[in-house]
Amino acid sequence: MSTFSEVRRAEVARRASHRCEYCHLPTQGQVATFPIDHILPRRIGGTNEFENLAFTCPHCNAHKWTGVEGIDPNTGETVPYFHPRRDLWFDHFQWSLEQPGELVGRTAVGRATITGLEINDVEMVALRVLLAELGLSPGILR
Ligand SMILES: [Zn+2]
Repeated sequence: MSTFSEVRRAEVARRASHRCEYCHLPTQGQVATFPIDHILPRRIGGTNEFENLAFTCPHCNAHKWTGVEGIDPNTGETVPYFHPRRDLWFDHFQWSLEQPGELVGRTAVGRATITGLEINDVEMVALRVLLAELGLSPGILR
């Protein structure tokens, strides 16, 4: 387990606008410290360089762990997970119009990331709806 200085942690959080770079859960209203993810895990050569670090909620971090790819549930194809430095979030994800709080993958990368990180876990969806109702997570409820 890596530890980062408070300065580095604050830089990573600021770059991410203080929300998970995968599911966009904001830190506001959360009691748990958001971990810093190595986008490319250290065990396969990832470094502590700023560009390899992502701000994640505990849920996404626990499910991504050392993963770098997942399966697109639509095609069964193995594809890379969403890469917070190379990919644009809105290219790969959108909030569901039918199911408030659910994230929809617009691409194979988005779908594999949602599935692999269990982003639509029922408790996480309920949390996102609650935060949106409190005005802490704009964009989820329309
Ligand atoms: Zn997350």
